[in-house]
Amino acid sequence: MPELPEVELTRRRLERELVGRRIERVEVRTPKLRLPIPVELSTVLTGRTIRSVERRGKYLLFDCEEGWLIVHLGMTGFLHFLPEPSPPGKHDHLDIVFAGGPLLRFHDPRKFGTLLWTTADPLSHPLLARIGPEPLTSSFDGDYLFRVSRSRRVAVKLLIMNSEIVAGVGNIYANEALFRAAIRPDRHASSLSLPECGRLAASIREVLQESIQQGSTYRVAEDSVAYHPLEFAVYGRGKGSCSHCNGALEEIRLGSRSTVFCPRCQK
Ligand SMILES: [Zn+2]
Repeated sequence: MPELPEVELTRRRLERELVGRRIERVEVRTPKLRLPIPVELSTVLTGRTIRSVERRGKYLLFDCEEGWLIVHLGMTGFLHFLPEPSPPGKHDHLDIVFAGGPLLRFHDPRKFGTLLWTTADPLSHPLLARIGPEPLTSSFDGDYLFRVSRSRRVAVKLLIMNSEIVAGVGNIYANEALFRAAIRPDRHASSLSLPECGRLAASIREVLQESIQQGSTYRVAEDSVAYHPLEFAVYGRGKGSCSHCNGALEEIRLGSRSTVFCPRCQK
């Protein structure tokens, strides 16, 4: 599943490729993904120029002059930029064709992606309006995390995966950040001290930032997209040993998601 670093990398890549391009037509091959693709999409996009590509949480926002195309990649979605037209494959649900022939293709084997159109402020769209602070901005820090966790008895891992608390921290990076901050994922959020909240906020920022800088956490094969081929310290290593103390890692379920931690290093 694409997480925030992959979405940010996608944004940067598409910003380079798409800004200034004029849309010639839209070809919709699949009328419904997670939600129906807006029927007016082809009409409203034709003739528009892409002015910018932005991101809020895991949503990509394309400024198309008169309105915004909002895209969420879901579980398996991927946006390909093709400099030359080529025949669509089985899971290529939509093409946005630009003047001169290049196109943006939405590929999604599991069809959990979302495409929306709005002429209003995209940040006020019902799906985006309640998203919490961006983890890579100064509005997210230890003081903030301390403040919002005081009344929460929920496990700290579930708190940081709640997009209303902080935008776009998925399972992988929650596991990694808690390991780096030396905090057990099943601790009650309200039990965290201010220094622990500071450590956790910094760790969340670091793991996301490093993943963005490595820039290679996804790759595209012929008919599939593999996200996160990189090695992680704890995620996916439930039967492995801790890179700090060499003790056995432990795997539990929290909120039905796999959670791996070191019972010696994380308190
Ligand atoms: Zn350890």
